[in-house]
Amino acid sequence: MSQTEPVNLLGLGSPELSDLVAQWGCKPFRAKQLQRWIHQRGVDSFDDMTDLARDFRRQLAQSCVVAAPSVQTEQRSNDGTRKWLFDVGRNNAVETVFIPEDDRGTLCISSQAGCTVACPFCSTGYQGFNRNLTTAEIIGQLWYAKRVLEADSSSARISRPDGTPASQPQRVISNVVMMGMGEPLLNYDQVLGALRLMLDDNAYGLSRRRVTVSTSGVVPMIDRLARDCPVALAVSLHAPNDALRDKLVPLNRKHPLSELLDACNRYLEHAPRDFITFEYIMLDGVNDSDEHAAELITIAKRVRCKFNLIPFNPFPQSGLKRSPAARVRLFAQRLMDGGVVTTVRKTRGDDIAAACGQLAGDVQDRTRIHERLPDRATIAIIEERE
Ligand code: SAH
Ligand code: SF4
Repeated sequence: MSQTEPVNLLGLGSPELSDLVAQWGCKPFRAKQLQRWIHQRGVDSFDDMTDLARDFRRQLAQSCVVAAPSVQTEQRSNDGTRKWLFDVGRNNAVETVFIPEDDRGTLCISSQAGCTVACPFCSTGYQGFNRNLTTAEIIGQLWYAKRVLEADSSSARISRPDGTPASQPQRVISNVVMMGMGEPLLNYDQVLGALRLMLDDNAYGLSRRRVTVSTSGVVPMIDRLARDCPVALAVSLHAPNDALRDKLVPLNRKHPLSELLDACNRYLEHAPRDFITFEYIMLDGVNDSDEHAAELITIAKRVRCKFNLIPFNPFPQSGLKRSPAARVRLFAQRLMDGGVVTTVRKTRGDDIAAACGQLAGDVQDRTRIHERLPDRATIAIIEERE
């Protein structure tokens, strides 16, 4: 970064922010104040940070900014789901989805523009890889969504028509899941910075149980996450044996199932929950037979886990079909009969293409991966950048 380029404070964690303010002779608590203004109150103008000294504010304004990626579009689903498309420069865009439920509000965040793993059922993978997001771009999605959603909910409280007292403000975003575009553990350092901000009491103050990283199985990085920042872990399993998983999750050729399951067990020693969530996409005629269910029951005996079955959300180029609802129900029943705790994910926001795996944005496929590789199920492993 050149000297004239302003520092984006959104991407700085507590230690970096303390170092920065120390350069101006300020005590560490100034960094805490600043962090609360930025992340808790969603303020991006230093002028509005009224309890900071005027000189300090001037210094900040001269060399720093608070800048989330800019929003290209916002869409609202009939079921209350909201989706934002963020411009991350050079014709790349990423998506963020908010899913309100009775007892929680979950924000689904992206970690990369595109993805190298190239799973054939995923529209993000289909585009190939464009670039890693920075910590500021990752946390910027949460910063922006929190600001917009809280503004909406406080205006809804004020305008309560029946004259009853306004309710206490609630945390609109109670959970964050790294299940948007990209493989979070292949953008490890930047994702780690964002996770630490999510947990920081002076920033978003979320508990480790309410922040979930979903991974396609980057084994060495699962171990690092266990040491650095053990949040809840979801693993995209999708197949009960290596032969099928090699095709559905090409990263499996580098980190096969047995290694992945061992890593899950090591992770459990540090995890905030006493189980790993296995995500399993239901693809008609591909991975949804009774035999597959029986194999999964064997796997489930090796790791304390819960299964989340995800009905496949189709997109035009995939050539794959969603398993019929009756098959999904029967498959879930087979697993439960085998003693495996199983839930079926409700599909939300599919009228605005905000459901899992439909996040495509306007990301340009510069890699043209689908043209180079006629059979997407035989896509070669793309080297991890560790
Ligand atoms: N790269 C990470 C996180 C992002 S994908 C991972 O793969 O885990 C988040 C979840 O959405 C994964 O479980 C993924 O398998 C699922 N998914 C991808 N494409 C999908 C589709 N078309 N329909 C339903 N779920 C999909
Ligand atoms: Fe990448 Fe996850 Fe999509 Fe696979 S499912 S291509 S790992 S984003």
